Amino acid sequence: MRVRKRKGVAEFLAAHSDKVITAPADWTVVFGNQKPLQIEVGCGKGDFILGMAAKYPEVNFVGIDLQETVISWALDKLLEAPLPNVRFLLTNGAALTAYFAAHSVSQMYLNFSDPWPKTRHAKRRLTADSFLAIYKELLSVDGALTFKTDNQGLFEWSLSNMSQYGMTLDSVSLDLHRNPELMENNVETEYERKFSRKGQPIFRLAARFEAGDVRA
Ligand code: SAH
Repeated sequence: MRVRKRKGVAEFLAAHSDKVITAPADWTVVFGNQKPLQIEVGCGKGDFILGMAAKYPEVNFVGIDLQETVISWALDKLLEAPLPNVRFLLTNGAALTAYFAAHSVSQMYLNFSDPWPKTRHAKRRLTADSFLAIYKELLSVDGALTFKTDNQGLFEWSLSNMSQYGMTLDSVSLDLHRNPELMENNVETEYERKFSRKGQPIFRLAARFEAGDVRA
């Protein structure tokens, strides 16, 4: 979803260039430590990534979005409740290999990604092949990609695309909020709160790029 540009947004982000990264950087230098790195592509207003960072202080989190104004709203929240293990990165998910070394990311999250329902826009979906190729390069060998959405069409398409791509599906839920085991560690996103309050089921999958268990 496109939002209207916030007044003075470029200056605001520039004034917090320690928290909002806009150029390739060494993440161990940015965070000042070597903790494992987890990222969300399309982080929106940041509720998920900030919630994860509060819950898992031993992990570094980067929330990525391509809209300046959206990132500025996430920054508002971070400034209100500071956490040392979160940064935001202003860029397009299609450019991530310029920002992260190969296999340097331990977990990746896609939450309520734009559905791009028209077939002619399928390549823009964040679960399209060109994006999967990027995630494969970024993720560590045992790293997982977790995807949540309210959009059944995008979910089904993504499931099929990921399995055709050769990914291994670790878990699939067609109603996350009725799965106590998955809900135990679930951190809600803005969209998730909105849709689940309306009673809509939330779809969730976790998948990896390496082949599944090979049993002798
Ligand atoms: N994850 C949040 C926001 C979902 S809305 C939540 O669950 O509430 C989808 C977000 O993805 C928007 O903020 C949009 O700007 C961002 N987005 C869409 N395409 C993107 C891309 N190619 N790279 C980075 N961010 C993208």
